[in-house]
Amino acid sequence: MYGFDYHRPAALSDVVDLLTGDEDAKLLAGGQTLIPTLKQRLAMPTALVDLSAVPGLRDIVAEGDGVRIGAMATHATVAGSALVRGVLPGLADLASHIGDAQVRNRGTIGGSIANADPAADYPAALVALDAVIRTDRRDIPGGDFFTGLFETALAPGEVVTSVFFPAATHARYAKFPNPASRYAMAGVFVARRGDDVRVAVTGAGPSVFRWDAAEAALSVRFSADALDGIVPDADGLNSDMHADADYRAQIVAVLARRAIA
Ligand SMILES: Cc1cc2nc3c(=O)[nH]c(=O)nc-3n(C[C@H](O)[C@H](O)[C@H](O)COP(=O)(O)OP(=O)(O)OC[C@H]3O[C@@H](n4cnc5c(N)ncnc54)[C@H](O)[C@@H]3O)c2cc1C
Repeated sequence: MYGFDYHRPAALSDVVDLLTGDEDAKLLAGGQTLIPTLKQRLAMPTALVDLSAVPGLRDIVAEGDGVRIGAMATHATVAGSALVRGVLPGLADLASHIGDAQVRNRGTIGGSIANADPAADYPAALVALDAVIRTDRRDIPGGDFFTGLFETALAPGEVVTSVFFPAATHARYAKFPNPASRYAMAGVFVARRGDDVRVAVTGAGPSVFRWDAAEAALSVRFSADALDGIVPDADGLNSDMHADADYRAQIVAVLARRAIA
């Protein structure tokens, strides 16, 4: 690790001031990605601005027909929240399968989506459910948030404060976890709100994406067998030591059926 200053402000305005005054400062949530990165000397921030003392950032509250989840809510909190389980059981289930118990007790929804790992689970839920990301300065639709490999629409120094998830008629996630890390080798979130069906895929490409052909088929008939014979194009999907692109395409097709079933 390189040396850095450490701040733990008790107000969001102080967080923003600290980031504005130092473009090389970094936010610290649960540290599940950031601390290993620092240990490996892959980043050299001048300061860490810890969000853990800012009031309200861990709150999970009902809003309209949906639920608003604070950026510092851990995966374990989301998985165990009676409110989330009531409004969107598929989202609580997704959170309950992230990493292991240690990761779920430290990792946060804000840190996960700001990091935008291509194999992270939450991005599929944000895109399929058309969630809205609230920051210290604006609301960003889930479909516009993830812009590429480890890239988001966040501006430098912009702080995610919460994510709003609208209720859905159906919302389920199925993933094929890497047996070592539990990250998604592929994961598919299927959401249906009225006539709108969205199928979002994570882990299989450089960033989360919507699977248009599956959405079209499911809009006609919302049933697992509506996807018979439909497999995503393997062109552009990830190939690595765990799975090649053709295999990932097949996994996505199976996971989409499982999510609906
Ligand atoms: C062993 C292991 C297994 C894992 N398995 C999975 C898995 O199966 N599925 C999965 O989805 N994830 C998995 N993860 C990732 C984990 O779930 C964390 O969410 C992720 O590592 C981010 O950690 P964090 O929330 O502690 O954020 P940090 O590590 O503290 O921060 C991550 C990045 O986000 C920025 N940031 C943090 N909070 C905010 C905010 N509110 N606004 C703007 N920027 C912010 C930080 O500056 C930093 O750049 C795994 C991690 C580990 C270590």
